[in-house]
Amino acid sequence: MNDHAERLSKLLKELQYFVERPRTGWVLEGVRVKKPLRISESKFGGTPYPGDRDQWPTCPTCDVPLNFVLQLHKRRFTGMYFPRNKNLFQIFRCPNAYCDADDDAADRFMTSTFHQTRPGRRVPLKRPEFDPEEYFDYPENPIPEHSFRIHRVADYPSYYEGREEWWGKKWVRFQNKYTSDDPLATYDAWFYEDDFWSRIKNRVGIKIAGLPSWQQSGYPPHCTCGRKKKFIFQLASIYDFQRDADWQISIGDAGNVYHFVCPPCGEKSLQTCWDCG
Ligand SMILES: [Zn+2]
Ligand SMILES: [Zn+2]
Repeated sequence: MNDHAERLSKLLKELQYFVERPRTGWVLEGVRVKKPLRISESKFGGTPYPGDRDQWPTCPTCDVPLNFVLQLHKRRFTGMYFPRNKNLFQIFRCPNAYCDADDDAADRFMTSTFHQTRPGRRVPLKRPEFDPEEYFDYPENPIPEHSFRIHRVADYPSYYEGREEWWGKKWVRFQNKYTSDDPLATYDAWFYEDDFWSRIKNRVGIKIAGLPSWQQSGYPPHCTCGRKKKFIFQLASIYDFQRDADWQISIGDAGNVYHFVCPPCGEKSLQTCWDCG
């Protein structure tokens, strides 16, 4: 083996350390359903479980009914964080692309909440008659009901600081070693090849756990208790989903809303932030 090949094989061996240290995530793919799903079922769109609500939620700034986006039941998503005594996670969003949400939590008004389902029949909430097309330019329409196809993935950080945060100083040393002023420019260049990054690729899409698909540099927020919050869920933009043109979620442009929680502090620590591509 010549010197270059030997060093390249050494790099790959060292990279293997990181390849073997992913964070498991679950990417959710929508599958159109023929028969309506039960109201406590995990799903995109359709009829939501009412939870503690007695009225369909509305946007406090636009004063219109929110769109139901999805709900996830604990029994199907054991890898997801749920607070004690809660077994259902729900998201609703304002249909207005120009909604003045007035904070850093999402691109528009959005609620992400946990609930507890109860046995027995529940009366579904009635969504008030409302056509977003009549009110807004570029509205987000309600999603037609879909069930989930779940893909378990080995997930990796999406950008440099994220890698340092996930793998620590060992990553920094590795990167420095192979991109510093090395006379062998070939493998310095190789470090930037797609073939290299495909081995530690961040998984995009609507995702449980794993690591955030930051579009710009981002960092997990800290809790008031001082701990770093844990990434639990990502709502991603969807365009022409599986050629299903009536399903569209647009977060900024092609952005994501990231959900974090501090498990010891529980449900009240749930926090979202977002970015766009
Ligand atoms: Zn709004
Ligand atoms: Zn905390």
